[in-house]
Amino acid sequence: MDQTFDLKGKRVFVAGHRGMVGSALVRRLAGEDCEILTVARSELDLLDQAGVRRWISEHRPDAVVMAAAKVGGILANDRFPVDFLYENLAMQTNVIEAAFRSEVQKLLFLGSSCIYPKLAPQPIPEDALLTGPLEPTNEWYAVAKIAGLKLCQAYQRQYGVDYISAMPTNLYGPGDNFDLNGSHVVPALMRKSHEAKRTGQKTLQVWGSGRPMREFLHVDDAADALVWLLKNYAGDSHVNVGSGQDVTIADLARTMLSVVGCEAAVAFDPTKPDGTPRKLMDVSRLFATGWRPKYSLRGGLEQTYAWFLDHVEKGQIRFGQSR
Ligand code: GDP
Repeated sequence: MDQTFDLKGKRVFVAGHRGMVGSALVRRLAGEDCEILTVARSELDLLDQAGVRRWISEHRPDAVVMAAAKVGGILANDRFPVDFLYENLAMQTNVIEAAFRSEVQKLLFLGSSCIYPKLAPQPIPEDALLTGPLEPTNEWYAVAKIAGLKLCQAYQRQYGVDYISAMPTNLYGPGDNFDLNGSHVVPALMRKSHEAKRTGQKTLQVWGSGRPMREFLHVDDAADALVWLLKNYAGDSHVNVGSGQDVTIADLARTMLSVVGCEAAVAFDPTKPDGTPRKLMDVSRLFATGWRPKYSLRGGLEQTYAWFLDHVEKGQIRFGQSR
């Protein structure tokens, strides 16, 4: 397919470069012939509209990837709805509007699979957006993200600029959150399997029934897909980014134990919630462009476990309380 945006010699601003996705994007963009721009939070607060306008007009990026967001699990979303709605709306609006003012040619906005209705068809196609009520536990975050993708679409329609959006599935990999109180299932089970191995525990506690199905994508594959879209996609609709395959939580737990080399048996904890039974993205739009992920689930978990061990050794991930 024809490339729509050539990164060669371009200045690319990655907003949110300290996060799991932003840091993967910086690693991936290092392989392109472009200049990567980042800014520390202490130097630029993305909530400050005037500051964002000034920084972008001074640094003149050719392209912007909006990977900065206020993120958190179910509990945080429930307790701090204003933070999730207001901060995401403000940060993304500031960046997108300032980019347009400074004549940024290409912008990629990132959302997540939680923008879709709770009862969307599986696998979830892009056009399921706004066809039903959202999952109430993360609607604050989802509403902000929907506004962000609509703002990009509005800039495209009104001004003809190349501002696109991508919606990644559940991501995991280096830089993930391994704090068991707020983590998603992959880092939680990795940490719990590691601890079970270390202490010789006989069982690995897995929340719920083990029957829910989830799709996972390694963050380096996600970053690769995002750079691919930056170069090759200029459409009006947002694009789902996923692996196109899902597994049961029980299978994930067994694969994790094998990757970690832990002999504990899986024990399900029915007092913990299962959440939605299935969440699989329809990735046919992305795959039709020719992109495919490189990691298998097992290969991705092995790579992440190597990173985890390295960081545990360096004292950057600490153990203590576990559930
Ligand atoms: P979700 O995809 O939004 O439901 O978020 P999670 O990644 O937190 O959970 C996915 C599934 O994994 C749910 O069915 C959880 O009950 C299950 N699960 C099993 N063990 C764990 C665990 O230790 N931590 C988390 N976060 N989820 C777990």
